Amino acid sequence: MAKFIDVVINRPIEGPFTYNIPKELEGSVEIGSCVEVSFGNKVVVGYVIGFPSDCEFKNVKPLLRVLDKKAAINDEILKLTKWIADYYYSTWGEAISAAVPSVLKRGPKKRRTKELKTQKIKEPEVEYLDGSGKHLPPNHEQKQALASIKKCIDDKIHKVFLLHGVTGSGKTEVYLQSISHALDSGYSSIILVPEISLTPQTVARFKARFGERIAILHSQLVGSKRIYEWERIISGQAQIVVGARSAIFAPLKNLGLVVVDEEHENTYKQEDVPRYHAREVAIKRAEISNAVVILGSATPSLESFYLAEKKSYTLVELPERIDSRLLPEVEIVDMREELTRSKKIPLLSQSLKEWIKKDLAEDKQIILFLNRRGFSTFISCRKCGYVLRCKRCDVSLTYHFHAKKLICHHCRFTMDPPTVCPECNSSYVKYWGIGTERVESEITRLFPGAAISRMDTDSTHKRGTHEKVLSKFKEGKIDILIGTQMIAKGLDFPKVTLVGVISADTALNLPDFRSGERTFNLLTQVAGRAGRGDLGGRVIIQSYTPAHYAIQAAKNHDYHSFYSKEISYREDLGLPPFRHMACLTFRGRKDEKVFKFSESCKDRFKKKDKDKKIEILGPAPAPVSKMRGMYRWNLFLKAEKTEDIAFLLREVLGNRRKEKGILVAVDIDPF
Ligand code: ADP
Ligand code: ZN
Ligand code: ZN
Repeated sequence: MAKFIDVVINRPIEGPFTYNIPKELEGSVEIGSCVEVSFGNKVVVGYVIGFPSDCEFKNVKPLLRVLDKKAAINDEILKLTKWIADYYYSTWGEAISAAVPSVLKRGPKKRRTKELKTQKIKEPEVEYLDGSGKHLPPNHEQKQALASIKKCIDDKIHKVFLLHGVTGSGKTEVYLQSISHALDSGYSSIILVPEISLTPQTVARFKARFGERIAILHSQLVGSKRIYEWERIISGQAQIVVGARSAIFAPLKNLGLVVVDEEHENTYKQEDVPRYHAREVAIKRAEISNAVVILGSATPSLESFYLAEKKSYTLVELPERIDSRLLPEVEIVDMREELTRSKKIPLLSQSLKEWIKKDLAEDKQIILFLNRRGFSTFISCRKCGYVLRCKRCDVSLTYHFHAKKLICHHCRFTMDPPTVCPECNSSYVKYWGIGTERVESEITRLFPGAAISRMDTDSTHKRGTHEKVLSKFKEGKIDILIGTQMIAKGLDFPKVTLVGVISADTALNLPDFRSGERTFNLLTQVAGRAGRGDLGGRVIIQSYTPAHYAIQAAKNHDYHSFYSKEISYREDLGLPPFRHMACLTFRGRKDEKVFKFSESCKDRFKKKDKDKKIEILGPAPAPVSKMRGMYRWNLFLKAEKTEDIAFLLREVLGNRRKEKGILVAVDIDPF
């Protein structure tokens, strides 16, 4: 009988730590069990990763409690989380913790009381089931794609397919039939979607096709429901799992297929430790299980398309919409001309207003898209230029029209808008910029007869509200839907003939190298919402930089021309996918101290990097240079291989993420 266990914990300290198994708990733990142990003077949750035969220390502390004997951390998940820890620079314990639902870490007793409390909350039901439960006979391109995918599933060889197809080209149907094939051969599947609540139609199609054999892992799933789904997966009742990024850790046996839908989406990147990218984790998990991966997108990430070009991935293209339905016509309006003409900052161009009027008269539906929330981005004084900023975060405060408050989007600091400028006392403090609320009030003023609805994180953070707005829109009870990026994704409304993009430039103005890629993706996704039925469609993009290649390529629905411009720019500048990056953020209360410390780290990196494999940029103030009272400085490390960066970080920093009161956050492959 084993006497000791090795445990890793959800802390930035690597371990493992050895504990002894008290008599009464003998035989109650396995590799992968979730346990409680004391650490320092605290009781913490840990995961059993081994049974050492011996322990050299005398006073080994005892294991306190077993929370979950078999927390579904099987061999595969152990390997996967170890890889995550090594690649994304976290500890193994932190990586395992990300793979286990928090409800399992509460222990049976606490879990039960939690269950009672949450029983009353009703899950948002997907209200409109779409499509039939039967497979559609695939067209020529789909047939070819399916043939090569099915063959790999049968041969049980790990391969990554990049399924590139415009919106509406039948990618989802390819997923469905591939999953079905895997199922017939006894293999399970995982389908990752960017966000469950934003893709109700996709989820509904999976449900319609596979019924009870599917488990859906909502991020909002309450504790008891999550355990229930988890148990259906472990028992093998559910062989298909659909969910957002953490669903990649679902404890399925016999994994044969992993689908990553909209693989380019940045919601796949986890913001907290471990800062993993679910697409990369998906590929790794599939590699461990010899499973097939399908990455699907209308606008593949530069990384994925590059690897497909290099033949590491197999490229499969679906170049046309089903039934050769035409892609919508895209018109770009040069807002500089509108500005000259109207002599004030225009919100809606003449062209957009006319098309709205026309389509309203014909009883068609309209989507207006804006890549920002709030009524206006900031308040500034027109006399002295003073901008109201959050004192703790050094970002401009956002005016929220409905609440009539200024709010900091980082720390939620809230204040009333001033009537006079705090700097020069003039009364010319004005709202600048645009937001969904301002678009809503302008549209209401211009088209008083129209039924208008707004969807953004402010108006829809209540559970189930998205679904309600979307089904009302589907039923034709809303004429104009105004929203942020959350309405850009995966929705299929045949009566939408007009999509207006209020400002295409907001994403281009962001200070990061992906701004071109983001803009192209967003415009393409948004444009894909128009003309999905037989009524045809039109997209109007308003822009102050209409000649930008990202905007021009989106106008022509031309991914390949966008890709070739963007990839050569990345190569010239030594950016991903040609080089890997790591972003280090140093945080502390004293600006000077943080800066000095980051500089000394840079020196230490330079000394250790004898072969000059790594380029170091910075220290530079972080894009938000002060947040919640903490000053922030960045260092960027670039290298051909991530392993070289990880090696250097471990050599210099070890696993410490705090030194002399300064916190260090490491983000591998950031953005
Ligand atoms: P994507 O995922 O690329 O946006 P979908 O798979 O959702 O494309 O297909 C777009 C539309 O065409 C859907 O309404 C779907 O039901 C339909 N469709 C897909 N494949 C076929 C097919 N082979 N025959 C008929 N209709 C199809
Ligand atoms: Zn002023
Ligand atoms: Zn703030």
